[in-house]
Amino acid sequence: MHQKPDGDAMGSTLALYHVLHKLGHEVLVISPTNWTNFLDWMPGVKTVMDYERNVEAANAIIENADWIFCLDFNSLNRTRKMELVLLAAQGQRILIDHHREPQTEVFAYGVSDTSKSSTAEMVYDFIVASGHEDLITEEVAECIYTGVMTDSGSFRFPSTSANVHRLVAFLKDKGLQHSKVHEAIYDNFSETRLRFIGNVLLNRMQVFYEYNTALIAIPAADLLKYDIKTGDTEGLVNYPLSIEGIKMAAIIIDRGEERKCSFRSKGEVDVNTFARKYFGGGGHFNAAGGQTTDTLDNAVIHFVTAMKENRDILSTYQF
Ligand code: 5GP
Ligand code: MN
Repeated sequence: MHQKPDGDAMGSTLALYHVLHKLGHEVLVISPTNWTNFLDWMPGVKTVMDYERNVEAANAIIENADWIFCLDFNSLNRTRKMELVLLAAQGQRILIDHHREPQTEVFAYGVSDTSKSSTAEMVYDFIVASGHEDLITEEVAECIYTGVMTDSGSFRFPSTSANVHRLVAFLKDKGLQHSKVHEAIYDNFSETRLRFIGNVLLNRMQVFYEYNTALIAIPAADLLKYDIKTGDTEGLVNYPLSIEGIKMAAIIIDRGEERKCSFRSKGEVDVNTFARKYFGGGGHFNAAGGQTTDTLDNAVIHFVTAMKENRDILSTYQF
């Protein structure tokens, strides 16, 4: 899975883990980095190895693996420090992913489908297509549901196809308690996180109405003051999109070692290209990310310049 895994990265890998394990394979899930607390309830998460805390053991396993499933990322550099050991591995690398522009040359097999809501949906399709739908137990259902729910914005994004709703019906028949998953993911935060969001919306958001764009820039001091952890800022970038007329929202967070950016858009605004061109990143058409080593102030200036360069697409508002 990619670094700083989200619900889809963790959900898709754990779903595949459970099914391969039931089929008698020796399986290990490795995360390139630590992950957010709100994934810690997930079935099987206790078996997941944090690469940065177990580099030597993980390297030995990767070097000797027969098969390496790469889930929910398009390019090996999304695994950060694992990139080189993955590239040198003897085993076959297999990609299952829904991001744009996959690094096809490094995978022996794979499926990359940007029309899919989530990698978890693709893992579900893979399990069913390989004739093992009977192995989808309640715990596998929880993993798949977590990935699909989080990546589809709780079933609201355009990628939420009829197949997604059929998948949910199937998982319900397997005993899935969907409210339990929603509560575990969305109702488990601290009071300080909520007050942090209040501060962000009040003091850290700029709206550029003439560009139908809004930007949130969060200094490192805010993260410290409100005791913000990995994952606490997830979803914040979506708030400005609820303002009437706003087509693009961006967030730049000063994480100390780098300034991490997220971009979201509506309709024809392509933030994948935007993130790739201006912030060394990428992702999907309407949801992408990137990063920069520049200061927060300079990153904001860079963003504003980039926004102005894209005046034509941003300033004409069409619903
Ligand atoms: P988020 O904004 O939630 O971190 O990421 C949105 C989407 O963009 C995700 O699908 C994620 O995989 C992708 N993404 C986020 N950051 C980066 C990045 O630095 N590089 C690339 N290539 N993709 C990213
Ligand atoms: Mn995903």
